[in-house]
Amino acid sequence: MKTAREIIENYDGPDVRIMEVCGTHTHEIFRLGIRKLLPKQVELISGPGCPVCVTPVSFIDEAIYLALEKGVTICTFGDLVRVPGSQMSLAGAREKGAKIHIVYSPADAEKYAKDHPEEQVTFLSVGFETTTPAGCLSVKQAKEDGISNYSLLVANKTMPGAYEALKGSADVFLYPGHVNAITGTRLCEALTEEGVSGVVAGFTAKELMTALAVALVKFQEGKPFFVNCYPRVVTQDGSREAQLLVDEMMEACDCEWRGLGVIPKSGMKLRQEWQEFDARLKYQMPKIEGKPNPACRCGDVLQGKCKPSDCKVFGKGCTPQHPIGACMVSGEGACSAYYQYS
Ligand code: SF4
Repeated sequence: MKTAREIIENYDGPDVRIMEVCGTHTHEIFRLGIRKLLPKQVELISGPGCPVCVTPVSFIDEAIYLALEKGVTICTFGDLVRVPGSQMSLAGAREKGAKIHIVYSPADAEKYAKDHPEEQVTFLSVGFETTTPAGCLSVKQAKEDGISNYSLLVANKTMPGAYEALKGSADVFLYPGHVNAITGTRLCEALTEEGVSGVVAGFTAKELMTALAVALVKFQEGKPFFVNCYPRVVTQDGSREAQLLVDEMMEACDCEWRGLGVIPKSGMKLRQEWQEFDARLKYQMPKIEGKPNPACRCGDVLQGKCKPSDCKVFGKGCTPQHPIGACMVSGEGACSAYYQYS
C-alpha cells in the first residue's frame, strides 16, 4: 500500500485546486514543507478561514469609535491591534489615548471588567464556530457576577454562508478541523449533493498529508466526495453542548466579510434577552462604512482569486512590520504565511 507521501508526490491526475479554508492549515502546510512535495498539477489556494483576516475594516473603525469617542476600554486578542482601519489601527488609537488591553480569552476580558468597575469594557468578539461559545460564556459569567460594565462587539461568523459564497472557487475544500469539531460534518456531507467536494483535515503533519492524499485519490474518481480525515476530534454531530449554548444566546444575522461582502445569515448577534451586553446597542453605534486601502488585495486572497505574491505591495509596502491589510498581520493570515515561508 502506498504512503500518503507517495500518493502526493506521484499524483499524475488532472489539475486540481485545493482550498485551505483555515489559515492555520496554510501556515502548517508551509511550515512543514508539504508544499515542496506537491506536483505541478496540485495548486493550494488560501481561503477565508482566518478570523482576523475576514473581519472587515468597518469593525476596526467601530472599535476605535468606542475607544476614542466613548472612552471604552477595548479588550482584544493581540492580532487585531495592528489591523489597519480606515484611518488608523487600534495601535494608532492607543497613541491617541485609547485604552487597549490585550487578552487571551473572553473570560480574561470579563475578569478585567469585574476587576475594574470604574471602566466600561468591551471585548472584540471575532472568530468562527470555534470561538463563539467562549464569548457566550463570558457574557453568562458577567450576568452571574452582576456586572454591567462589560459588553461584546460581535463579529462572529459561521462557515456555511462562506461555503456557499465560495462555491466554484476550488475543486476541493480542506475543511477546518476545529470548526468541524463544533459543527460536526453534516453540512459538509450535504454539500456533496451540490457538487462540492472536501475533506476535514487535522493539524499535524500526518493528518495534513493524509487529508491531501485522500483528496487527490478521491478527486480522480470524478464525483463529489466528502471524507472526515480528522476522526479523532471531529464527529458527525459535533459538540452539542457548544451548539446549544450558542443557540441559547445568539441568533444569525447578515454579516460583512472582508472581500466577500455581506453574506446573508452568516454572522451572529446576541439575542434580545442578552442585548444589554451588545456594545452596538449599548453605545448606540452609528453606521460606520469602512474604507479599505485600495492597494490591498486581501479580498481576492481570501477567495483564492490571487496569491499574496500577486499583490503589488506584497513584501514591499506591506510587510509584517508595516502591514497594509489584515492578511499580513494575523498569525493565520495567508500573506503573513507567504512572507514567512515562501
Ligand atoms: Fe493586503 Fe498586504 Fe496581502 Fe497585499 S500583501 S493583499 S496589501 S495584506
